[in-house]
Amino acid sequence: MTDKEIREILENEEADIRLDEPMYLHTSFRIGGKADCFCEVKTVEALKKIIAFCKERGIDYHVIGLGSNILVADEGIKGVVIKLAGEFDEISDAGENRIRCGAGVSLAGVCVYARNNGLGGAEFAWGIPGSVGGAVYMNAGAYGGEMKDIVVSSRYLDADGNIGELNEKQHQFSYRHSAYTDNSFVILDVTLELFKKNKNDIFYLMNDTMEKRKKKQPLNRPSAGSIFKRPEGFYAAALIEQCGLKGKSVGGAQVSEKHSGFIVNNGGATAKDVKELIRYVQNVVREKTGVELQCEIKFLE
Ligand SMILES: Cc1cc2nc3c(=O)[nH]c(=O)nc-3n(C[C@H](O)[C@H](O)[C@H](O)COP(=O)(O)OP(=O)(O)OC[C@H]3O[C@@H](n4cnc5c(N)ncnc54)[C@H](O)[C@@H]3O)c2cc1C
Repeated sequence: MTDKEIREILENEEADIRLDEPMYLHTSFRIGGKADCFCEVKTVEALKKIIAFCKERGIDYHVIGLGSNILVADEGIKGVVIKLAGEFDEISDAGENRIRCGAGVSLAGVCVYARNNGLGGAEFAWGIPGSVGGAVYMNAGAYGGEMKDIVVSSRYLDADGNIGELNEKQHQFSYRHSAYTDNSFVILDVTLELFKKNKNDIFYLMNDTMEKRKKKQPLNRPSAGSIFKRPEGFYAAALIEQCGLKGKSVGGAQVSEKHSGFIVNNGGATAKDVKELIRYVQNVVREKTGVELQCEIKFLE
């Protein structure tokens, strides 16, 4: 695929296209080789065109949000990486305490919008460094709240270029899972239902949440948040610590000294380092406790 070929199908203003784009620039882990083609798509029409182009030619495509829950291979990504920008970055009032958010909007943007408009319910998401699309895909949550509690509907684009909509129930939300985890649809926008709340109370709760994060999480090092899902009846971090793995490192990747559920990049970590460390932790925890740790992060390769 050439720059010219891909540009031919898109108007310049509909997308920014970069070939051989280093993916470490687009992940919170600051890890990842080059994507053959990186496409920042600004309109639904452009998104349809790029997906049709990829389908026609048998080229793989991958949608990312803010890259805060992915590990990109050192070898990079064959095909097209799509990031939503432009009209996907907008929030609007949908009436009756509802807001409609483009899938590319950051959760931080949602929280600030909600606070400024005296709408409560999204405070749990303050400090989760993802996009609305990534958060719905993952059913992101923290401190007693999750996307499941506030999502009322979402619109998507399927692989055949059709736009569809899911209602609340159709999302099939469960722990770090949604219907989107199991299909290849691209989430376009999401409607959230919040409730009227005093702005100072919202502000207080957001601050409180952030303080808790700062105390517990290694926010001064690149990471992808919690590497593992919470196993039924246990806490991954406690099991890892109990097995003496706090601080264990492979190359530049290390089980955080501050929060054993995080693997941090201490500088120069490769995806191979992180994967080796994950496998090592999984093996030791399995041998010593019998618990199987499943990864929460998604691998892009
Ligand atoms: C410091 C730190 C703290 C964190 N704390 C939390 C926390 O408290 N709770 C929590 O749940 N998570 C947490 N995370 C993880 C992460 O922020 C969330 O999972 C977030 O929802 C991921 O969103 P993203 O936009 O970065 O998605 P990405 O990482 O870019 O992508 C994640 C998955 O979503 C898919 N995806 C993204 N956008 C779309 C779309 N528009 N359509 C279809 N699929 C899409 C991708 O293909 C990928 O499979 C943390 C991460 C970090 C680095």
